Formats: sequence, structure tokens, C-alpha cells
Amino acid sequence: MKATVFSAKVVEWYQEHHRLLPWRQTRDPYKIWLSEIILQQTRVAQGLPYYRAFVRQYPNVRSLAAASEQEVLRMWQGLGYYSRARNLHACARMIAKKYQGNFPQTFVELKQLRGVGDYTAAAIASFAFGERVAVLDGNVFRVLSRVFGVSDDIASPAGKRKFMALANDLLPVKDSSTYNQAIMEFGALFCTPRSPSCDQCPLSAGCVAFRRGMQADLPVKRKSVKTKRRYFHYVVARRGKSVLMNRRTGQDIWKGLWDFPLVESETRLSKGELERTIKKVVGEGTSATVSPEYKHVLSHQVIAARFLEISIPKESDWPRGGLFASAIPCGPGKVQRLPKSVLVARYLRENGAGE
Ligand code: SF4
Repeated sequence: MKATVFSAKVVEWYQEHHRLLPWRQTRDPYKIWLSEIILQQTRVAQGLPYYRAFVRQYPNVRSLAAASEQEVLRMWQGLGYYSRARNLHACARMIAKKYQGNFPQTFVELKQLRGVGDYTAAAIASFAFGERVAVLDGNVFRVLSRVFGVSDDIASPAGKRKFMALANDLLPVKDSSTYNQAIMEFGALFCTPRSPSCDQCPLSAGCVAFRRGMQADLPVKRKSVKTKRRYFHYVVARRGKSVLMNRRTGQDIWKGLWDFPLVESETRLSKGELERTIKKVVGEGTSATVSPEYKHVLSHQVIAARFLEISIPKESDWPRGGLFASAIPCGPGKVQRLPKSVLVARYLRENGAGE
């Protein structure tokens, strides 16, 4: 299919079918950047309330830069991939300081920003500043691989280069920004991963995947990362409505969020092993109530968590040292305000402590 025919059909489809999303009604690079970071690995329906809350709370990049990282992480709670929130905040501070609160305006400069990769830089450059540069997200990979029958691995550097060259060849000279929006939306709503609307598709006559019945085989993406299983044993020391909590500091998931003192094992502990662990951690004579297992699935990890509840009779009995060295007692108000993983927030909600 000729590039001009392809882009014209996609734009025509877009004019009639696109969703009215707030970040499409603006050329403000701050709002476009914010939406793009939120929508990485997040569906529009889930990301939209977060986008609105962020714009309300931090209407511009300077106000976001002035917030603390903890406040930003708390607002992000529930969206997952928390490095995005930390990068968002660091990037806002960088723009406020190095660029006096003004976003750089070119793809090349935008790529220098923290947490901004090829795709996000292209999206901001195209949608906010009208630069003629192709955006290439999962939706675009899917549409291009199917229409043009490209079976290179989209996760490989060589595959990415090939798709990027094709995407740039297809970019119209005029209003490439609308075309970029259009092809992403076409992939998101029409040429979807599992049930593409081929019967009504304006591109079907020239679509290789449709002609060959290969929609389910394209795009090709080889899996490289194995899912890791982890077993968490959280010690929840509770006195009245207060609980001991820790800020996570290591290079691991949920860095900067708050949870409970944690013992991790590589396998699921038997009843006897669990009892020995409790004794070792909280001492002889302290009994713990063990919760059922909570399963929490992340992109490359599955966490099986148990919460070991211990009751603290008086103020001077809060456990100290060892596993509890950096934990602090938090009342319900504080627990509510702290940024937490969805797993911990769920446990607290179901077990009455500040959520
Ligand atoms: S014909 Fe089907 S597979 Fe091809 S572009 Fe249209 S919706 Fe996608």
C-alpha cells in the first residue's frame, strides 16, 4: 500500500472515530508529557482519573517540581511501575531548574530528560511542537506489522530500527501530528491485539495480515524475561490503631513506598518454617496471627505474601533493632497519607488500619 493512501485512510478513520481525551485538546507539553508517562503500561480508562488528579493538584511543571517525592508517589498509588512516578518528579525538577520551567522543544533535546525515551520524546515533539517525527508505541507496531506483513521481532534492536524506518517513511509531510494520533488510536480501538475489526476496516484490501489470516501472529515479540516468584512475610506489629511501617530504600520494586518489616524467602514456607521464622524475628513467647496468602502479580514477578500480625501491649514494647531497625509507629492518619503498594493498601483496607 502506498504511504499516502495508508496515512490518508488512517486519518480519515480517526476524524470520525477518535475519543475526546483531555490531552488531545491541548498543545501544552506539560500535560502531554504527563499523559504519556501515565499511559505507559496503563490503559486509558485507568489512567484518566490519575491524569485529572495530577493536573488539578499540579497544574504546571513548576508546581509538580515543588512537591515532595512522597506526595507524588502517594498520588501515583495504584498505577504501578513506581519508577515512572520517581522519574516524573525528577524530570519536573530538572525542567524547573535547568530549563526555567520550559520544556525543550525538539525530539533530540526531549530525549535527554529523565524517564523520557524515544516514544515519549516523539509524542511530545509531535503533539506539542509539531515536529515531523514518527511515534512508535505498541499500537503502531501492531498496525504496521499487520498491514505491511513485517514479522521482525519488535523487541529486538534490529526489529525496532526496521519499524522506525517504515514509520518515518509513512509519515505525511503535512500535519504529521494528527497522523501520529490517528495511527495510535487506530491500533488502540480498531486493530486491537485479540479482535481486530477487519470486516469493517478501511485498510483491509491492502492488509497483508488480513489477506493471509495472520492477524494473531503479528506483531512478533519474543519473550525474554522469565517471571520470578517471590514469597513475602510481612510482620505487622500493631498497637491499637497504630502499626510499624518501613520506607523501602533498596534497588527493588516499590522503592520509596512504605510497607512493613519484611522477611523474604525463595520458596513457600511450610507451617513449621513459618513458626520458626516468627520465633526468630519477634522472639519466643510472642504469638502471631498468620493471614491467608495474598497473591500480587507484577509484570515479571508474582508475589505471594502473608502478613504475620503481632499485638503490642504497651508503648515501650514496640520491637526495635534487627528487622525493625528503621520502622516507625504510624497512626491511621499517617498510614493513609503514606504512599504504599496496592498489596499493602489492600491488606490495610481489609484489616482496618488507615486505608
Ligand atoms: S484488516 Fe484487520 S489486521 Fe489489517 S489493519 Fe485492518 S483491522 Fe488490522
